[in-house]
Amino acid sequence: MTEIVVLGAGYAGLRTVRELSGTSNVHITLVDRNSYHYEATALHTVAIGTNEAEHITFDIQKAIPKDVTFKQDNVTRIDTQNKTVTLEKEATPLQYDYLVVALGFESEDFGIKGAATYGLPLQDIESAQAIRKHLEERLAAYNDSHDERDLHIIVCGAGFTSIELLGELVYRMPSLVEQYHLPADKIQITCLEAMPKILPMFDQKLVDFAVQFLADHGAIIHTSTPIDEVTDHSVISGDNVYEANTIIWTTGVRGSHVISDSHFDQKRNRVAVTSQLTMKDHPEVFIIGDSSAVPDPASGRFYPTTGQISIAQATHTAKNIKASIDGTPLSDFTYKSLGTVCSLGPTTGIAEIGDSGRIKLKGRKVALVKKMVNDRSIMEESGFANMMRNLS
Ligand code: NAD
Repeated sequence: MTEIVVLGAGYAGLRTVRELSGTSNVHITLVDRNSYHYEATALHTVAIGTNEAEHITFDIQKAIPKDVTFKQDNVTRIDTQNKTVTLEKEATPLQYDYLVVALGFESEDFGIKGAATYGLPLQDIESAQAIRKHLEERLAAYNDSHDERDLHIIVCGAGFTSIELLGELVYRMPSLVEQYHLPADKIQITCLEAMPKILPMFDQKLVDFAVQFLADHGAIIHTSTPIDEVTDHSVISGDNVYEANTIIWTTGVRGSHVISDSHFDQKRNRVAVTSQLTMKDHPEVFIIGDSSAVPDPASGRFYPTTGQISIAQATHTAKNIKASIDGTPLSDFTYKSLGTVCSLGPTTGIAEIGDSGRIKLKGRKVALVKKMVNDRSIMEESGFANMMRNLS
């Protein structure tokens, strides 16, 4: 029996076990620290409270094929020499013939002073719920505190996550103002971005639309504003001090700490894999999703990390593992993006879809595209029943 161990039940891990399921003479073990899978691309909606956690999560055990063994445990270390994986609760390490590492991302603070202590990261369900709790508590506190910083929110970084989060925030803010009887003119939503331009992968007209939409709804983006320090009530960039009692830290992500804990050759917990998605010198170890850096043969650079590409890597990995078991050559991973969608709250957004982003969309129709993408992903990963539950 060939033992295949898959670490992480995110988009990549779940897809891998589904594709490998049914292979003869193979036993598959899937490990995740949670009993549930969550839609990482919708975390910002839970953080702002436009969505509940139960709408973007589902039970892993119910979503995986019957021939896959699921272990809910924390992965602590991978030993590629002995082909074992150490878990927190289980005394005996798992032995593998093939290993798929799909452990996802963690928030990156770049070692900026105060960021880890005072910034609220967005990296999983717990941190998303913590942001919502903090935000609502500070707004509710204003009527007693009369501290205007309770009405100020700073979003650090203006990447995809920040912009999508800002979109949800400006959508929900009017109802928060009403709920907590707040002075709307004193609410301040500020986004601080180090680079001179935001969302460089989008056409400038679409970026301008997004920036204008957010500004019209009260969220101001300051570009060329690199954050130097975060304190309990402020964010500092050069000589400028921005004050707020809610500081959301979304300046980018790194791979899983298990990668560095296992002493792999890595950069920001990402391993540069071969074009077959394997670890150099370890053709039996596949690293996919946000903990990997995958070379794009066309550009010579690494592919960007997205949920969409993680799923494509998982399908390719399953194909390569089957090829390896059969003794046939592994194939190189290539990828063509189906498009990029950036929501600005539940009712609008910007998108580039089709070949090389040929179709450019902005406004309400993007919300429909985004919903179709999300529902398709939920349907594929969890089955039709879960999709119906999420739609209801
Ligand atoms: P990101 O790296 O894309 O963006 C982080 C932003 O923070 C960057 O613009 C960076 O310049 C800025 N930043 C970093 N350090 C800073 C500092 N000290 N001061 C000010 N600004 C600073 O990270 P993300 O938005 O978390 O996204 C992570 C990954 O997930 C990306 O690959 C992204 O494409 C993907 N993602 C995709 C979608 C989507 O397709 N809709 C949604 C969310 C995330």
